[in-house]
Amino acid sequence: MSDSPLKRLLKLQEADMRQRDMETRLENLPKEMQRLLARRDEVMASTAAAAARFRAVKQKIQKDEALIAELNAASDKLRQQTTMVKKNNEYQAMLASIELNKKKVSEAEDRILLAADELEAAGKAGARIKFANDAELKNLKAEFDELFAFSKTLKEEIARLREGRPALLENIPPALLSAYEALLRNQKGGPPLVPAVDENCGHCQLKITAQTAVALKRGEVVFCGNCQYMLYDPQVLEG
Ligand SMILES: [Zn+2]
Repeated sequence: MSDSPLKRLLKLQEADMRQRDMETRLENLPKEMQRLLARRDEVMASTAAAAARFRAVKQKIQKDEALIAELNAASDKLRQQTTMVKKNNEYQAMLASIELNKKKVSEAEDRILLAADELEAAGKAGARIKFANDAELKNLKAEFDELFAFSKTLKEEIARLREGRPALLENIPPALLSAYEALLRNQKGGPPLVPAVDENCGHCQLKITAQTAVALKRGEVVFCGNCQYMLYDPQVLEG
């Protein structure tokens, strides 16, 4: 025995609603994937910033180390020159310069000592941040890969549903089919074929007429007099 038009329409609608649901999910995927990529960029920037803070402290130390070497070299040169100067005031000036260099070296050494603690702290913070960020990156990548695989599954399923659709259209009376298709085109309108529940339209919720109720009991598809959606009696299917 072949299915009634009602059963055929319901089968078609089930496939159409499934297809619509999948198309909606597919449409939303790029936005979700973009969000993951943006977060990935943020996390990577955070790791890079922590590494940059460590490098900045290290560079500060290297700069003072270079300054110390420079000052010591200058002092060595001055000491050699003192052996050759004849005038006392020149000699005193050189000694004063050497003394000043010594003071600057001492200041630079103090800065290096302070920066060493800073370097250690920046190193630890950097490692901690990198560890947490790497873990998040791994999760983000897994999530992204999952969405990518999901998009492939959705596309395949949508293609399969589209391919199977013509077969579902067979033996549905043309008038019913064209009304169904028209209601289906209204993307926000929900399913075209709705059950009548407690003698109310399943779409607009208004009470159906007694005449409509009788037709529904016979297993017919009837149009709601108010909203024009297609109605059926779910109890007919159970019997
Ligand atoms: Zn209605």
